[in-house]
Amino acid sequence: MRYDTLILGGGPAGLTAALYARRAGLSALVLERAVYGGQMVNTPAVENYPGIPGISGAELAMALHRQVTELGVEVRLEAPVSCRLDPQTKTVATARGLYEAPTVIIANGVRRRTLGCPGEDRLAGRGVSYCATCDGAFFRGKETAIVGGGDTALEDALFLANHCTAVHLIHRRERFRGSHILVQAVEQRGNILLHRSAVVEEILGGEQVSGVALRDVVTGETAVLPVAGVFIAIGLMPDNEVFGGQLELDEGGYIRAGEDCRTSLPGVFAAGDTRTKAVRQIVTAAADGAVAALGAAGYLSGERQH
Ligand code: NAP
Repeated sequence: MRYDTLILGGGPAGLTAALYARRAGLSALVLERAVYGGQMVNTPAVENYPGIPGISGAELAMALHRQVTELGVEVRLEAPVSCRLDPQTKTVATARGLYEAPTVIIANGVRRRTLGCPGEDRLAGRGVSYCATCDGAFFRGKETAIVGGGDTALEDALFLANHCTAVHLIHRRERFRGSHILVQAVEQRGNILLHRSAVVEEILGGEQVSGVALRDVVTGETAVLPVAGVFIAIGLMPDNEVFGGQLELDEGGYIRAGEDCRTSLPGVFAAGDTRTKAVRQIVTAAADGAVAALGAAGYLSGERQH
């Protein structure tokens, strides 16, 4: 089947791209591998999306999905298994079909790294969170833990320390990977307690998180920290293997594209978390979606004039 544009990913970047593509008169197909809304569906309340404070991530995703489908965009829950980005025609294969278009908007987001310990999956959204800036305020006046040793974990610990009575920062090594200045700031905060060379063995709780079981990797000693929330900040991974060898990626595996969302290939745009960018938020993903769709529309009208 052929469209004007194929949009890979049904998160805020992809769905906004679909909205703008349709309004620009393009036929568009959105392919989403898992769940419409992407990572935001894990957020109980999105409090930083302009104009609609307090909406849940799932509600925002449903509203966006509805808006897009009511405009006549086709959306399918299908995962791309291969993708050919030839200059004239971009071809995406899924297990169910083959789709073609002269333009493609890649908005497939990122995958978060997970700990893989017992309790993590079961308590996700019930005290286990992957986004301190999204969910930290829910733990005001409570004790929390954050896992990781990079800049994200250090920054998140400082952010959580503004809300929480105590923040336990758990890192698997002695030395932090994150920047010196952040390490210093963390060490100086009275309510951040450092657990170096420690790993989470299990996240505990019934309906909600009630604690974490830790093991010191040097001494082998174990302990339980009584926390209401566990934030996991052990890095994110782009999901761009399927484009390997065709598109320019940066060292981290993100698609090289600037604010205009143009990639190294004509007619191929990258929007949202999947591209090299400084701020990864719902609002910046949505903004990218608009820019990429209008870029695709401009590209198509240029092509058609030739
Ligand atoms: P990151 O730098 O990759 O750090 C991930 C951390 O998680 C590392 O300390 C790592 O431990 C730990 N980790 C990984 N897998 C783990 C596991 N299975 N169990 C326990 N711990 C695990 O990720 P990030 O902090 O999200 O940062 C990503 C990039 O964004 C970095 O380049 C960072 O500098 C940048 N960033 C910059 C800023 C800033 O400049 N303000 C803010 C945020 C992020 P090891 O150290 O032992 O590998």
